[in-house]
Amino acid sequence: MPKSYNIAVLKGDGIGPEVTEAAIKVLNAVQESSQNLTLNFLYGEAGYHCIAEYGTNLPEKTVALIKRTHACLKGPMTTPETPGAPVSVAVTLRRMFNLYANVRPCRSFPNVESLKPDLDFVIVRENTEGLYSGVEFQLAPGVGVALRIITHEASFRVAEFAFKLAENRKKHLTYVHKGNILRITDGIFKDAVKEAAKKHPTVTIDDLHVDAATMQLIKRPESFDVIVTTNLFGDILSDEAAQVTGSLGLAAGANIGETYGMFEPVHGSAPKYTNMNRVNPIATIMAAAMMLEYLGEKAAALKIEKAVLDVLSEGKIRTADLGGSSTTSQMSQAIETKIH
Ligand code: NAD
Repeated sequence: MPKSYNIAVLKGDGIGPEVTEAAIKVLNAVQESSQNLTLNFLYGEAGYHCIAEYGTNLPEKTVALIKRTHACLKGPMTTPETPGAPVSVAVTLRRMFNLYANVRPCRSFPNVESLKPDLDFVIVRENTEGLYSGVEFQLAPGVGVALRIITHEASFRVAEFAFKLAENRKKHLTYVHKGNILRITDGIFKDAVKEAAKKHPTVTIDDLHVDAATMQLIKRPESFDVIVTTNLFGDILSDEAAQVTGSLGLAAGANIGETYGMFEPVHGSAPKYTNMNRVNPIATIMAAAMMLEYLGEKAAALKIEKAVLDVLSEGKIRTADLGGSSTTSQMSQAIETKIH
């Protein structure tokens, strides 16, 4: 039975178009090598470059386009930092489509230097609230307040997601918080995790303060299986974990909700490398593989993963972040060739 999916593609800013096009080429190679898979790419405009023309980084027509699709492949976007400017597209889409679980696999790759061998853990970050709620104001000149909103509902929902993931992995979950200082907000988060734990007795749990977690990620990264945490802590820990396991250029992420999924690299738009054909496209290519898995196309997802692992194992094509001098297009071409 042929399967056909509409995929929203947002290329983004900076290195976004280069890495997204690389992932699309790989997805096209997967389509060509599969008899029963059709991906219809619907390109939408979003990102910093839209602001001058539309007054926003997420035009309404792009939101309408996303609503007609089964999933979204999103390139990184540049976020303006001036107060009052449009807020991050990623944050807006996560909240708009209720993509409450940000899933960031952290694993070693062949021929890629990592702090310890054979690392394999996943960070699940609450994606809709916390310090990314976007509620920030100035009380008086020089005095600002940002609201860190934590609800039982959102904490329980993401904890449930993380426990289910752990049940299918090594059955271990670490919840990371700063409950000794943020007693009310992280108290709510901790209680929600403990409540979810009762429904998943086969999963053992560990409790870790976020400052200790940053240290343990370096000291004993092999001891983690699934980490669940709040929004900001998860964002920081996953960049750290990307470097612990190899490179930000390899780290992919999924934003999962009840009815929709958005897939993107963990990294940002790295503006200084724009159009240099220099950065590693694997993070976005692996995000595309996660998207296929979310759509139920596991065989197609595995094809991409195997091709990436084969290219890295051979060690002939290595981008600058991996200590080589290969280009973005040489890397994606090598992966495409393995798929055909
Ligand atoms: P960044 O992730 O863009 O870049 C940090 C550094 O990581 C780069 O200078 C580069 O050395 C390395 N790097 C990133 N991607 C790489 C790749 N594919 N291959 C090799 N090396 C890579 O972080 P930043 O400089 O803090 O942010 C730049 C912009 O991106 C900001 O506007 C920020 O808001 C935005 N951002 C967007 C997203 C998103 O769209 N989801 C995520 C993070 C940051």
